[in-house]
Order: sequence, then C-alpha cells, then structure tokens
Amino acid sequence: TPAVSMPEFVLPLSHEAFLRANRVIPGGVNSPARAFGAVGGEPPFITKAEGPYLYDLDGHQYLDYIGSWGPMILGHGRPEVKRALAEAVETGTSYGAPTLREVEIAELVAQVVPSIEKVRFVSSGTEAAMSAARLARGATGRPKLIKMIGCYHGHVDALLVQAGSAATTLGTPNSPGVTQGAVADTILCPFNSIEAVREIFAAYPGEIAALLMEPIAGNMGLVPPRPGYLEALREITEREGTLLMFDEVMTGFRVALGGAQELYGVTPDLTALGKIIGGGLPAAAYGARAEIMDHVSPVGPVYQAGTLAGNPLATAAGLTTLRLLRDENPYPKLEALSARLEEGLHRAASDAKVPHVVQRVGSMLTLFFHDGPVYDYDDAKRSDLKLFARFFWEMMARGVYLPCSQFEAMFVSAAHTEADIDFTIRAAEEAFKAIR
Ligand code: PLP
Repeated sequence: TPAVSMPEFVLPLSHEAFLRANRVIPGGVNSPARAFGAVGGEPPFITKAEGPYLYDLDGHQYLDYIGSWGPMILGHGRPEVKRALAEAVETGTSYGAPTLREVEIAELVAQVVPSIEKVRFVSSGTEAAMSAARLARGATGRPKLIKMIGCYHGHVDALLVQAGSAATTLGTPNSPGVTQGAVADTILCPFNSIEAVREIFAAYPGEIAALLMEPIAGNMGLVPPRPGYLEALREITEREGTLLMFDEVMTGFRVALGGAQELYGVTPDLTALGKIIGGGLPAAAYGARAEIMDHVSPVGPVYQAGTLAGNPLATAAGLTTLRLLRDENPYPKLEALSARLEEGLHRAASDAKVPHVVQRVGSMLTLFFHDGPVYDYDDAKRSDLKLFARFFWEMMARGVYLPCSQFEAMFVSAAHTEADIDFTIRAAEEAFKAIR
C-alpha cells in the first residue's frame, strides 16, 4: 500500500481516538474500508453529519462523497426521515412480530423494482446476497454460482473469492477462514466478457443455479456494463435455466428509482437490495417473482430468518426515504450535478496532465488514475494507486471527503448543490497540480 504523509493535515483528537479504538477494536474500525489502510493514514472520527457535510472531532467540515458508502442519497439528516424515526421510537424499537410498515415498504419495493413481486427483508447487504444465492440453489436444485471478478456481494463465504486471471477458473478463497469447500461451487468470470460466460456454460451444462453480478460494478471502482452485455447475459441465462441475479445493494434506488434494471431495461430473476432501502439504518432485502420467492420459508423449504429483520426503526427510515425518492424524483438533479462533477474533474486532471479516466453512471462515479477506459478488475488494478493516495489526501486537506480507495465509487447526494460541486472541482484543480 502506498504510504503518504500529509504533515500539514493533522487530527490530534481523531488520532487519540484512533489509538484508543485500536486497543479494543481490530484496526480501530468496525469495517475495514474505514481504516484508510489503502491511503496510508488515519481516519477522522466523525461526530455529526448534516446535508452534504460531515464533521470530525477536530472541528473540520468535509463535503461528503461517501454518503455512508451509498445509503445517504438524500444527504444527511433529512427532517422527514428524522421525524419518522422519532415517531417510530415512541412506539417501540423492536417487536419480533409483523407490522404494517413492513407491508407498506414491501409494496413500494414491488411497485418500483421491475423484477420484484415479493420481497423478504434482512439486515445487511451481505445477508441479502447470501440468502438470494441460497434461494437460487434451492429453487433450481443446482449447485454452482457464477461470480464476476471484482464484484463484491458482502462477506458471504461462497462469494468472498479472489479475483483470478483465467476466464473460467474455479474459485480459491481469498480470506483465511473461507474453506475450499465453501467456494468449490463458485465459478469466477471476468466482468464485461460475454465470451467467458459462454465458456463457463459450455463447461458446466445444467449445473449453474445463478449468475450473480453487480449490473453496474461499484466495488472495483465504477465500471459500467458494456452496451449489450446485460442483454446478452439475460438471454444466455434464460436459455440455460440459470437464474440471473442482480446485486443492486449499491445501484438500487441510486441510478434510478427501480435501479440498474430500470435504467437498462434488463429484468433479472433475483435482486438483492441494501443501503438506500434502510435510509441510513440497517436494512436490506432480496426479491423476485412470487413463484421464486415462494420457495422461502415458511411457504417453501429454503430457510432464512432474522431477529431484527423488518425492524420498526429501519422500515421507518427506509420507507420515508423511498417515498421521498418516488415523490421528489431527484434523479434528473443528481444526473446534472454528477455530470458537472465528472466534467470538472476530467477538465482539471487534463489541464494538469494527470493520466486518468472518469467513469460514471448517474450519481455514482470513479476517477481512475488509469490511462483509458476501465472495463474489468484487471484494468482497474492497473491504476496508479500511489497517485490516487496523494490525490485523496490533497482533497481531504481541502475539506473533500472521498472514498479512501481507488476501488470504490463516489456518491453524489440530492443535498449537494452546484456550489458544492464547483468547490470540489476547484479543490481538485489544486490537488492535481500538487500531485503531478
Ligand atoms: N453487495 C454490494 C454490491 C455492496 O456494495 C455491498 C456493500 O458495500 C454489499 C453487497 C454488502 O452489504 P453490507 O455491507 O450491508 O453487508
């Protein structure tokens, strides 16, 4: 990992908190990306978030382009969401029994997500992907899964598999604790290659339960599907009797209200949702046609459960967020703001003669320090990570909080303004000049 020192950017109180955290929490964080390991430094400790801003222990204000890694599409602290939460707290925080609000949010999800007639709520994106994969195997009676290299579906054992270089290799685990057995039925495939998918189906006829993918990859940096790619996968999987599963944990309600499947007009069989669906609280879901979902217990034999699933606070925040998205339709505004940011970053990097490409779909984007388009994980890995890390710190020092890894997407929220975008572009102009 590239080590970067930024001596003029010091956070004494966050530093103290980080030392304290490290004594009782592995790496001081409850999710590894937050540790800033990829950029060689220590994270600020956050005390407050409002609109498009984050505030840290040391009194800094940052323009936030992480948005809690996706959920905060409306920005932080929308009054309607806060009010819904406050009201929900008054009536009890968890019952472990059915509630009307679960029905209302399920109805709304079924209304706006093309592939979904029935939906089951869980508490994290990891659970959503894991449960959907189990359902695919249970419903088809087939053992194998195709997983795209560079796509992330949470830390599910069977899906936590290292990116390989061959087109059709059986997976090997990339984390100690994940056994060969757990990934024996996971087949790795490069993103954006139809040929590789055809080869896999030829090698394993009748064995593949599901093809899992992020329809727009967001976990190797932002990598859109090539034109025709999703359509071809839809056609092949349908022919092979394999379920097509879109992991829309990141793209759902983000690139369009109905997610990537609405944007591209390609309807998968199964969909995993997360992040925005909880409005900033822990909620996620998976859904499909009724005929598929009815394999899930208690209707069918595929077991899946959750003590806090459909939690009253999570459904209050989630339902309010989804209704606001439906009623306010912020997507044209998000598109305009994000296009302005894309153009500004591209212009600033070009002026400073920094090799780069900016890739974007709606309000998700990545500035790759890569000379030319990024189509897959191999391309993404050829980015100049050292330059990325230096850029990251130059932006932090100027009050712009970007994802701390080249392999993550930036998120623009509806709380960002044109002035915020222009502030960011000016910061980037200075940052590119400083690192070149
Ligand atoms: N799937 C995708 C596409 C994701 O981006 C993520 C998280 O970043 C997950 C699944 C896992 O979700 P969670 O972190 O809520 O378990």
